[in-house]
This record gives sequence, structure tokens and C-alpha cells, in this order.
Amino acid sequence: MYYEIAALFLNYLRNGVLYFVFLILLATSCAPSPTMESGATPTAVIAGATATQPPVEPQIKPTIAPFRFILPTPGAEPVSGWRPPLYPVPWAVSPYDHFYFARPIAADNVNWPLAEYRYGGVFFAPNIVHTGVDIDAEEGTQILAAGPGTVVSADWGLYTEAPGSVTDPYGQAVVVRHDFGYKDQTLFTVYAHMSKIIAVVGQHVETGDVLGLVGDTGATTGPHLHFEVRLGANTFYSTSNPELWMAPPQGWGVLVGKLTDEDGKLLHQFPVEVRPMPSAVPLRKVLTYAEGPANSDEYYQENLVLSDLPAGLYKIVFKYKDKDLQFWADIYPGQVTYFTFTDEDGFQVIPPPVPTLDFLPGTATAVP
Ligand SMILES: [Zn+2]
Repeated sequence: MYYEIAALFLNYLRNGVLYFVFLILLATSCAPSPTMESGATPTAVIAGATATQPPVEPQIKPTIAPFRFILPTPGAEPVSGWRPPLYPVPWAVSPYDHFYFARPIAADNVNWPLAEYRYGGVFFAPNIVHTGVDIDAEEGTQILAAGPGTVVSADWGLYTEAPGSVTDPYGQAVVVRHDFGYKDQTLFTVYAHMSKIIAVVGQHVETGDVLGLVGDTGATTGPHLHFEVRLGANTFYSTSNPELWMAPPQGWGVLVGKLTDEDGKLLHQFPVEVRPMPSAVPLRKVLTYAEGPANSDEYYQENLVLSDLPAGLYKIVFKYKDKDLQFWADIYPGQVTYFTFTDEDGFQVIPPPVPTLDFLPGTATAVP
């Protein structure tokens, strides 16, 4: 009996190690599977019967702990209930904002980015930077077009550019080239790790049309949607942070920061805490972008984005050169709150200068 358990465990461990090596070899994207502490499951605001649930029988059979990754960042996301409806797209209170996209997952499932592995994060290897966000929806959930456009790719092999390649880290993926662009640049969105592709190349889709189903194909540790926004070219190197492109829930806002050292260089993978005031709900933890192919917005030049913050007062805290620093910032409904930190000047909640007219997107980029 004990031998059987030991053999099973060894076998399990070996498979786990092989799986890990396999993942490292594939190494681009994606994501850690849900952590329940992160509040991955949407919870109804009115919790009815939970208080009267019968006590759970104690587990008496020996069990083997499942092999799983420990996520690199602690950052527990507050347990979230149903969120308000999203602002209608395109949503842009300021001329330099561009919340052009709806969420690629409907609101009856998790439709927000996984907290521990945001855009610009690293997980599989220090030099592999996350070029999208991961949405922790359940396997089989419908994946929706984030905006109108034409399907230009729907297959395995997106990263390796080898159609049909089942070892591609994106797994089964769909790319939509949108009917609109931004500042004369074409916009694409990418939907990866599908269990099933439904859209076909050449198909024109509207916002909300089903492109495929959530799965765990490619380099992933569990079912989720990897979602990218690509600006100017349909390549791994031309992504932009999707949290700057997906419309926030109504009444909620987005924190954007640029944190630099004494030489004006971006601080990489710098931990920052964002605490609602008064702090009845848990703080959020966010890391600045790692060095690599995480691109900053042309206007903000940011290295930190935290979307989906209910409007209100927040305390932003981090340690710099062994000093605990903190400052306060207001988040406004449907807007970006921008701050900078530099070694010399400390914090400032001053947006970059208002863009001149030539910064405006102007007329939509026509795409055939
Ligand atoms: Zn991902």
C-alpha cells in the first residue's frame, strides 16, 4: 500500500518535472492557473445559502498534493463580486486614452486580468516577458471578439509562424485585425490557448461574436484566455498593455504610473502596493514591467498599469532605497489617474502635458 503510494508519487513527480521542462522549452506566454485566493471565481453580491452549508466531512484518505507552480508574486486580489457593466466602447474621456475594446469574456465569468501575471510580468523564465493579460475564465467559456474586424489567423503556430504546429506556445489562437486603428497604426487583438477555434480566416466579426472556447493549449499551466493588443504590426514585439485598451467597469478607473530611478531609467519589476482608503478591502500588489518586449504607451511612457479600481482614494506604497514611501491618489470613474515617481522629485500626480492636436487619433484608419 505504502509502496504503491510512493511509486505513484514518484511517477507523479517525474511527470511534473517533465512537464516543467516542457514548459520552459516552449516558453513564451502563459499563465498560471487560477489561485482561489485571488478571488478568481465571481461571487454573487448577495450570498444566500452559504451560511447554512453543512459541515464538510474531514478528509481521511491519504492524498497526494497536486503538482503545481507557486506564483512569483504574492498580490492577492480582493475577492470580487459581480462588477458594474462596462463603459460602452470606444471609451475615451481624454483625447490620449483609448479604451477601444470590450472584454473578450462575457460578464458572467471572470473577465478581468489575472493579478499575479499582468502585462510585462515574468513567470516562465526571467527573460520571457508576458506580452498580454491572462483572463482566468473556465474551460469551455466562449471567447468573444473585443471589437469589430476581420479574422486574419485562426490556427496553431502563431508564435512560431508555423501553421499547424502543435508545440506553439500560443496553442490554438485567433487574431483579429480591427476595422479601426490608432494614430494611423493598425490594431490587432490576439486570443490564445483555445480548446476550440470557431472563427475562420477571412470572417468579419462584430464585437461579441464568438471566436472560440477557453482552453489550455500551448504553454500554459491551466485553462485561461491569453489576450493581447498589438499596435502597428501583428507581431510578438508590437504589443501594448491591454489594460489600457479594455473599457473599465462603470464607476471604476485605471491607475497608470511611470517609476524611474535617479538616471531617469524605468524601474523594472518594482513591487508597488495600492491600498484603498479606508482600507476595508485588501490592497492590491502590482509589479512594474520587466525589461523586455513590454511596450509603454506613446503618451504615458508607463511601466505600471492597474485597471479595475473602484473610484475613490488610494494609498500607494513602496520601498525605495530602504525607505518606505507612500502617497495618495484619487481614482475617478472611467478615467486614468497618472502618477510619476523619480528618485529626485518623488511622487507627482501630474499627467503629461495635454497633447497637441497632432496627437489626436483623427479619422479612423481605414482597413480593407
Ligand atoms: Zn498570457
